[in-house]
Amino acid sequence: MSTFVIGLTGGIASGKSEVTRRFEALGIVVADADVAAREVVAPGSPALQRIAERFGADMLQADGTLHRARLREHVFADDGERRALEAITHPAIRALIRAACESASSPYAIAAIPLLTEAGGRAAYPWLQRVLLIDAPQAVQHARLLRRDSIDEALAMRMIEAQASREQRLALADDVIVNDGHPEQLQPQVEALDRLYRLLAAGCTKP
Ligand code: ADP
Repeated sequence: MSTFVIGLTGGIASGKSEVTRRFEALGIVVADADVAAREVVAPGSPALQRIAERFGADMLQADGTLHRARLREHVFADDGERRALEAITHPAIRALIRAACESASSPYAIAAIPLLTEAGGRAAYPWLQRVLLIDAPQAVQHARLLRRDSIDEALAMRMIEAQASREQRLALADDVIVNDGHPEQLQPQVEALDRLYRLLAAGCTKP
């Protein structure tokens, strides 16, 4: 049972997965909001039923799964519809990752929430004890995104600009890992924070 939960966030291709893997290797349980987002709309889930009621039965495929492409297209250009969808999914996602973190067997747990800043910030997640930001300059994000996802430069820039700014993310963070060098430079930063979080989780307020 772990009630000490760190929210891990960062922009696209900032290196969240790289960092998360390193915490997991130290034995820390990580609950991922992207995974939870898929689970909450699984066939038979209350959220999926509400989506069908609100947006129409044609948002379901013949096998009962969500027609993601159709729903995405429907909410893409309409903020009101997007908010209606989020009002259904976000509370379910938050509840799922909170439950996963609180039942974790590690001394503390990490909730990986890529869009924490965009999805209500700390007010939406009052049970996070700290927020860890994975930070990288935009040019570095851009270069990594091109390499990882094989997309063109303009699309990569639009994806970055659709997200919160670095400054907005920094405003939420208690801790920052700057990922602008070699991946191996992450390891000592992860280990230092792991030591801090273990101390804090054990009730020691003076690291
Ligand atoms: P996120 O999970 O934040 O979207 P990833 O961890 O997937 O980002 O990193 C984005 C891409 O950049 C991946 O292909 C990853 O292997 C690579 N990457 C991450 N950190 C570094 C680094 N320090 N140096 C070089 N490449 C990196």
